[in-house]
Amino acid sequence: MIRTYAAIVLKAVPYAEGGAVVSFLSEHGERMAGVAKGVKKPTAKWVAAFEPLGMVRVSFFGKEHAELKRITRCELAFSPLTLGHLESSLVMACLADLFDRVSREGVEDDRLYRLLSACGRALKADPDNALGILAYAEHWLLHCMGLLPHPRVCGRCGNDTAPLALLSPDRGWCCTACTPVDPQEALPAGSREHLRRLRTGGAEVAPRVTPADDAQQAVTALLRARLLQELGGALRSYDVLWRTV
Ligand SMILES: [Zn+2]
Repeated sequence: MIRTYAAIVLKAVPYAEGGAVVSFLSEHGERMAGVAKGVKKPTAKWVAAFEPLGMVRVSFFGKEHAELKRITRCELAFSPLTLGHLESSLVMACLADLFDRVSREGVEDDRLYRLLSACGRALKADPDNALGILAYAEHWLLHCMGLLPHPRVCGRCGNDTAPLALLSPDRGWCCTACTPVDPQEALPAGSREHLRRLRTGGAEVAPRVTPADDAQQAVTALLRARLLQELGGALRSYDVLWRTV
C-alpha cells in the first residue's frame, strides 16, 4: 500500500545503483526511512527533493512492517536553502544530523517536527543568523530529550534570584547561593537571562551569536557539549562546520 506524509528530509545515503536510502522526520515527529531507486539521469528536481531540511510530501510503498519501504514520490514544498550561503547550508547539515539521531522509528514526538520546521523557516528568512538558529535548536532538542531542567529556580535550593553557577547532571541548574564554585568556572552573569531568551522567543528571533556576550558563549558551549555527549560524540557535520566558519 502507498502512504503519503508531510515530512522533512534528514539524510540521504547512497545505495545500490545510484539510489539512496533517505531518512525523514514525519509531521508527527517520527523518523521514517525508505529507498529511492536510482534514476539514470537525475534531474535537478529529483536531487532537490532529497536535500537536507527540505519540507516535502513523500509517498512510501511497502508492507506495514517492511524493513525498508520504497519511496514512490517526493515533492519539495519548501526549501530553507539560500543558494551561495555556505554557513546556512552547513548548519542545515548539522540540524539534519541532529534530528536524524534524536528522532526514532515508531516513536512520535510532534515537538521535533515543529522545532525543525520553525528552524528551517527561520534559516530561510535570516540565513545570516544560522549559528544562532543552531544554538536555539540544540537548546530545544535537549529540552525535548528531557535533559534540560527549567532555569527559573535553582534545582538544589530553590533560589530564584541568585546567578546560576553550573548545570549538574542530578540537580539541574544550581545557583551561586548554594553551590560554591571557583568564579573562573562559574557560569557568567546573565546566563539565566540568556536561557530565558531562548525559552521565550521563537526560532525567528533566536539570539544572534555575539562573541562579546560571555553568558551566551558559555551557555551555548555547555548545551552543545551536553547534547553531543548524549548523541555519542562529535558529528561529522559539526567538524565540517567548524573547519569552515
Ligand atoms: Zn541554589
